[in-house]
Amino acid sequence: MTYRNNLPADYKNQLPCFGTFDIIVVGGGPAGIAAAVSASELGNKVLLIEQLGFLGGAAVSGMSGTICGLYMTVADPLVAKPEQIIFGFAERFRDALYQAGGLTDPQIYGKTWVATHDCATYKRVATDMTRQAGVTVLYHTQMVDVITEDDAFKGMVLHTKSGFTRVNAKKAIDASGDADVVYKMGLKTSKGNDGVIQNPTMMFKVGNVDMQQYLSYWGQDTISPPKVVSMLEAEDELLRKKSGCSQR
Ligand SMILES: Cc1cc2nc3c(=O)[nH]c(=O)nc-3n(C[C@H](O)[C@H](O)[C@H](O)COP(=O)(O)OP(=O)(O)OC[C@H]3O[C@@H](n4cnc5c(N)ncnc54)[C@H](O)[C@@H]3O)c2cc1C
Repeated sequence: MTYRNNLPADYKNQLPCFGTFDIIVVGGGPAGIAAAVSASELGNKVLLIEQLGFLGGAAVSGMSGTICGLYMTVADPLVAKPEQIIFGFAERFRDALYQAGGLTDPQIYGKTWVATHDCATYKRVATDMTRQAGVTVLYHTQMVDVITEDDAFKGMVLHTKSGFTRVNAKKAIDASGDADVVYKMGLKTSKGNDGVIQNPTMMFKVGNVDMQQYLSYWGQDTISPPKVVSMLEAEDELLRKKSGCSQR
């Protein structure tokens, strides 16, 4: 083993204390925003920590582009109408983003519907929502260890731009996307479906596109037309292939 997982207990005990909270949420991505806002609105004193300088997680830092998963899949994309099936906090955030001018109406994507978001507006809406809910947010702050007593969670060690600090809390919500809290607690983690995960996407933006020429080549398929898929498969560059992913 090349790494040491936890800090020495006496070191953790000597750290200055940033505060005491009911709940610490680790990670300010979509899951962390939902958890922190909901927990705070239920009357809990909530601290949300995020290692980057903004909220939104991979939806923003990875320019994920769209909100997927709110709508029913369709048999025929050319005649289908969007049928929303997911509501709750996801719908509340969708609506706030839409009202702020940061989200399109639903657009067909393969056999389902998605809505395209603007990353800057996504960050602002998330920031406004957490502020209005009374969540304390620490940016540029990483959870580096947990504090336990008799295997029970008692708090965390954080690294901030001002240095190391400890925070006491009754509960933690792990929204790190990497199960960082679970791992630091020494509990079991797993990745994907026996290591097989969805193919990654490299997002980018282009301008000055001649849309007429683009569409006349690409067609109306919003993912990849068969001629593009077969070109990629011929070059063996299509990581979307389901088999063998775990070996890469
Ligand atoms: C390139 C790309 C394209 C995608 N395209 C789409 C799409 O089109 N539509 C769609 O719906 N979804 C898309 N996704 C998936 C979507 O972005 C994720 O499902 C979503 O962001 C997961 O949210 P999350 O809050 O669980 O985790 P994340 O978004 O990963 O957020 C976790 C947050 O925790 C922080 N963090 C991690 N560890 C620590 C720590 N120890 N201390 C402090 N902070 C920590 C991270 O900085 C991050 O901000 C895409 C993802 C990527 C990467």
